[in-house]
Amino acid sequence: MIKFYKLHWCCILIILLQPLRSTENYSIEHLEPPFWWTGMAENKLQLMVHGKNISDLEPEFFYPGIEITQVNRLSNPNYLFIDLFLSEEAMPGEFEIAFNKQGRSQVQYNYRLIDRESGSADRQGFSSEDVIYLITPDRFANGDLSNDNVSTLKESSDRSNNHGRHGGDLQGIIDHLDYIENMGFTQIWLNPVLENDQHNYSYHGYSTTDYYNIDARFGNNNLYKILSKEAKKRGIGLVMDLILNHIGSEHWWMKDLPAIDWINNDGKFVRSNHIHESVHDPHLTESQRDLFTSGWFVKTMPDLNQNYMFLANYLIQNSIWWIEYADLSGFRIDTYPYIDKDFLSIWSKRIAKEYPRFNFVGEEWSNNPTMVAYWQKGSYRYDNYESYIPSMMDFPFQEALVNGLLGKEDWNSGIVDIFRVISNDFQYGDPYNLVVFAGNHDMKRIYSQLNEQMDLYKMAMIIISTVRGIPQIYYGTEIAMSSIDDHGALRKDFPGGWPGDKVNAFTGKSLNNKELEAQDFLRKLLNWRKENTAVTLGKMIHYPVDNGIYVYFRNYNESLVMVIINNNKRSKTIDPDRFYEVLAEKKHGISILDDKIYDLTRKINIPSKSALILEIN
Ligand code: CA
Repeated sequence: MIKFYKLHWCCILIILLQPLRSTENYSIEHLEPPFWWTGMAENKLQLMVHGKNISDLEPEFFYPGIEITQVNRLSNPNYLFIDLFLSEEAMPGEFEIAFNKQGRSQVQYNYRLIDRESGSADRQGFSSEDVIYLITPDRFANGDLSNDNVSTLKESSDRSNNHGRHGGDLQGIIDHLDYIENMGFTQIWLNPVLENDQHNYSYHGYSTTDYYNIDARFGNNNLYKILSKEAKKRGIGLVMDLILNHIGSEHWWMKDLPAIDWINNDGKFVRSNHIHESVHDPHLTESQRDLFTSGWFVKTMPDLNQNYMFLANYLIQNSIWWIEYADLSGFRIDTYPYIDKDFLSIWSKRIAKEYPRFNFVGEEWSNNPTMVAYWQKGSYRYDNYESYIPSMMDFPFQEALVNGLLGKEDWNSGIVDIFRVISNDFQYGDPYNLVVFAGNHDMKRIYSQLNEQMDLYKMAMIIISTVRGIPQIYYGTEIAMSSIDDHGALRKDFPGGWPGDKVNAFTGKSLNNKELEAQDFLRKLLNWRKENTAVTLGKMIHYPVDNGIYVYFRNYNESLVMVIINNNKRSKTIDPDRFYEVLAEKKHGISILDDKIYDLTRKINIPSKSALILEIN
């Protein structure tokens, strides 16, 4: 509030010369989306305007091809939701939206419409031709020391704290794109990089406090765009981690909620039961069913009510805004089953309407293929639900991979676990579009899950790189990082990412033999995969496990690859005759890791705990 008596006389003169203003103050704190594009498939747009008493005012502008169709006011006077209709005549340009009272403009906002990049709608999302590198940005590389502490944001950097911020950022990733490319990765998925202005434990990024701004400790929106552009030059796509389920408790909405319906449970903390089966369980009470999706994930993560139309529009437009702004090639959607089911269908359809070839993958952390398949587009279901999501994270496969490799070889344990989980592919709409992984940012490092056994680690890497699906590898896996089961510890700093680091995994300096062995192995494997159409595009054919040996093939046109896994503690011999339906008249196989030639008319010896990849010709 301006205190009149404190104003200098010249100010008074200026005020008197201006048109009479209202006695009340008005302001615009947020107007989102901050700009938009012409030529989108959807011709409606809804602007959220937040500012003091803004609902008291009437928005107005004149711009050819765009008109206001409705102005929506909620119970909170500090919000306006403006519905716009954009006709095909709307051209790129800028116009002033005036917010009027009794015909007089009180506050204004210059809105921009931008021309889309050509080919934007037709963008290809990540696919089975890719390998995704998952990076926790705070822990990968610190490319800009000046943003480690930002005065306007609450938590500052403390590298000695496992659960604190370590200073890694987007510049650090940009600086090492050549390394990422050289390793054979073709997509990068970053844990969330939007602003997380929480008091502590904010580095992981899953507590959004601003949906339209990159956290200043990681960089800024423009730098995110530069990262995308620089990655694209190297054939690498950018996958954004999207959180539609919840926000951070320090999100600006929480200080001035648009409506009580914005947050589940009237904006008050009620913990989710975290029972994923709640979505499907026929025996559960209605209240327990609701509690899973409408309860909060944790106290610092208020649960969004995506049932509420204004919030649904906001989230949908925000997702599209980032695809278009940062030229994304995919989304990874956090805590997928916790989100309102009906909203998920609407959201997916809107994304696909704008970008029919875009890809996005959901996180359903369940080892039950039925529960994961339920969400994937085209799967068979017990109800008529369809979420339209093209890809899911293959958690059942991850668990089977570890259990299978660690299990004692017997008719009902060991490598048969992997065979069985793949056999369950009949449940999926598209098993080739599942994301397969050995580890991620939420579980003990895969090298440690496999009891730090290099032979098992290599088998795991071979399997995820050759099995159906899209491989995803967590940063540091390429140097066989180990960890205990603790989030802070498993997300440890990548060596060489910080000035003064004695070990540098980007250059190989001071890596030990084990780390170098893992890195060379994975580099070779992934770069081979990139060029092999049997593995990237081919069908998968497998044989039942026999004597602790699992054999599968990938084939595409003339290209055929055979993978033989011996999970026994002893070497074993296999007779290629058993696979006559696939091998037919083929006589030779070349091992892609050591170029050794195998005669397929004779028995093949497979060393203990090893996997062999043969290109068949
Ligand atoms: Ca930094």
